[in-house]
Amino acid sequence: MDRRRLAKKRLHLKKGLIIIKLGGSVITDKHREFFAKVDMIERISREIARIRSRLILIHGAGSFGHPIAKKHDLHLGYKNKRQLEALSETKSRLIDLDKILIGLLRKQRVPVVPFMPSSFMLARRGRIIRADLQPLKTFMELGIVPLLCGDVVPDVEIGFSIISGDQTAIYLAERMKARLVIFGCDVDGVYSADPKKNPTATLIDVVTPSTFKNLLKISNKPELPDVTGGMLGKIRESLRLAKKGIDVVIMNLTRPQDLVKLVEGRKVSCTRLTPD
Ligand code: ADP
Repeated sequence: MDRRRLAKKRLHLKKGLIIIKLGGSVITDKHREFFAKVDMIERISREIARIRSRLILIHGAGSFGHPIAKKHDLHLGYKNKRQLEALSETKSRLIDLDKILIGLLRKQRVPVVPFMPSSFMLARRGRIIRADLQPLKTFMELGIVPLLCGDVVPDVEIGFSIISGDQTAIYLAERMKARLVIFGCDVDGVYSADPKKNPTATLIDVVTPSTFKNLLKISNKPELPDVTGGMLGKIRESLRLAKKGIDVVIMNLTRPQDLVKLVEGRKVSCTRLTPD
């Protein structure tokens, strides 16, 4: 690439980094094993293609990961040899889901490249302790959009552990100084109670560390086999980012155009996490 084109490209890349977490509940049907919502992913891919900032995409495992992980207690770490086949199957299913996303994003000409967290991350008791981000950063300088997922990652104490897409989003946002982290799910944001079970639940526009304490009372006992933190974990982990001045939004990705509107600074129904 000649110098002028590279400089132009860099200018374009100067806009701050946006990390988008595509929730498992958005891209898969959590009630049907290995069922990807292809139309939904296609529409979201079209919206992603319109975003001009530097981007990292992270997807949840949804029904491609959680049921097997739960059945074989993968969230408890290494217990017995039988789990290894389940671990291998989980990985293979995650790659299946990756491929669906990559295909649909590429159709919109998004230059997406998969990065498996287990290939460059290490955990201790379910927390990321190390990650070699240089390969990812070097690709991003060219304009590549990395695609990561919630994953089973090597763990120095318990053999392996599940690192949710939420945790990875937060880890990368801190290390790479993101300007905005978007948690896309199938509800508008954080409600006074699970909106799927309580039709009278109200949306909370802003969550701060002190209002979070009240939120701890919210219903967060998923009946579905989701072995990561769910909504509560998302908020708890994200408040750290808000304290560091990184914008965090929990929003509904199932509603067409909301993603584009939010990135353009227009009003959408969502929850923002802010410092006190
Ligand atoms: P994903 O896997 O898509 O990241 P999560 O399952 O982690 O999403 O979180 C979204 C889900 O959390 C919603 O589908 C909703 O049913 C559930 N939920 C539970 N309690 C709440 C709450 N108080 N506010 C919003 N959503 C909630």
